[in-house]
Amino acid sequence: MKTKLQIPPLTIYNTRTRKKEEFKPVNPPYVGIYVCGPTVYSDPHLGHARAAVVFDVLRRYLTSMGYKVRFVSNITDVGHLEGDADEGEDKIQKRARLEQLEPMEIAQHYTRVYNMAMAKLNVIPPNIQPHATCHIPEQIELVKRILERGFAYVVNGSVYFDVPKYAEKYQYGVLSGRKLEELENVTRELRGVEEKRHPADFALWKKAPPTHIMKWKSPWSVGFPGWHLECTVMNAKYLGIPFDIHGGGMDLIFPHHECEIMQAVAAWDTEPVRYWMHNNLITIDGQKMSKSLGNFITIEQVFTGDHERLSKAYSPMAVRLLILQTHYRSVIDFSDSGLASAEKAYKRLIYTLKKLDTLEFQGGNVNIELEERIVKHINDFYKFMSDDLSTARAIAQLFELSSIVNQLADKGKTVREVSYEVGNLLKTQYATTLKEILGILPEEEHVDSFRLNAVLQILITIRQEARQQKNFQLADRIRDQLKEVGIVLRDTPYGTEWDIE
Ligand SMILES: [Zn+2]
Repeated sequence: MKTKLQIPPLTIYNTRTRKKEEFKPVNPPYVGIYVCGPTVYSDPHLGHARAAVVFDVLRRYLTSMGYKVRFVSNITDVGHLEGDADEGEDKIQKRARLEQLEPMEIAQHYTRVYNMAMAKLNVIPPNIQPHATCHIPEQIELVKRILERGFAYVVNGSVYFDVPKYAEKYQYGVLSGRKLEELENVTRELRGVEEKRHPADFALWKKAPPTHIMKWKSPWSVGFPGWHLECTVMNAKYLGIPFDIHGGGMDLIFPHHECEIMQAVAAWDTEPVRYWMHNNLITIDGQKMSKSLGNFITIEQVFTGDHERLSKAYSPMAVRLLILQTHYRSVIDFSDSGLASAEKAYKRLIYTLKKLDTLEFQGGNVNIELEERIVKHINDFYKFMSDDLSTARAIAQLFELSSIVNQLADKGKTVREVSYEVGNLLKTQYATTLKEILGILPEEEHVDSFRLNAVLQILITIRQEARQQKNFQLADRIRDQLKEVGIVLRDTPYGTEWDIE
């Protein structure tokens, strides 16, 4: 029986070329991945969970293939204006104004909430998580360079990217397929009073109005960077240009990623990215997720069941499996029943994992056909993963293996139909594919984030009740004893948060 695995090279659907291509790193064995992170002004929702889980599995898969991955994902804490536009208020500053807090307090809080949600989903933290506000000098340098090369202009202290000028020399819309003329016709009437020469132009630097809090000195004005600038600066700084894979949700293709390409080409005369990968969006009960439809579900609400569309709390692992049971380029519909069946499926996978541990493969009466099926399902797992990360079809192989394991286990602990060699391959590969590559763990191995958080929430509530009853001795004891084991409680305007020291 051949037990050597066959792992085909990875192919990726490249949004830039609109076709599947074999993945070849710029600088093997190193792979640079950049994924646009959250704008930290509100609780992360299911859309954030999807992008994070998809690219986490990509990273895990590349690592399993022997690549050395540097994974960079940013925190947008300035410059992202309402409606993703060049006008309007900064999303974080608006939240700060409404809640009478420092913008950095908002950004810090929601960064922590985001990272906690990702830990619960077993998403490996980025190697680098750069903040836009920590890269203002680099952003100013990039604006200078684009100005020097003649692809931007200054109006009243703001700097805009000159798209028509760019389009004279380079092709416009390479990622989104948009045409400059179409854009002009659609938006001309909507232009109103503004500083841009052309509706496709976008802000590189905005002069800040006097009421604006988050602002920095620059050669053009006291102001703040345009939203698209930070990603160009940070991926160039940490991954070099060109780098391998840039990921994000499909809603970022235009304008955000199109603008990233134009900025890099204008500055360095080279496209920044080899492979652009975009995950599709999610719907809730068949509808687009939005606050006005009442179907906006945060990640934490799924974990607590605290939403009218949910009948109960679901484990982060069920959410992770639900996300991976759909190909990343298809729409996922989240529903209570979908989550319920994902949870069942999750339990089945973990049951098999544990059952396998108890079996002793001894051979003696080997069923060659059965052994061939086992090896084929394992190889097919890798075949589908290598086919543009077809996680749904890869997971289907694990369910096939589950059926085989259950049938074998029914006959007793000692398995004679399968040799030690194939049995051992099955054991190690089932655990590797499920836990290492898909990142789906048994709950007790995932205790670090999920269960610990639940236990701490109970302690935090008891402490709050103690304070309300003026039992400060008990409240302080909870805080001090947690501190002794390295867990720090912090009282914030949002309630008590915890951190590991
Ligand atoms: Zn970005």
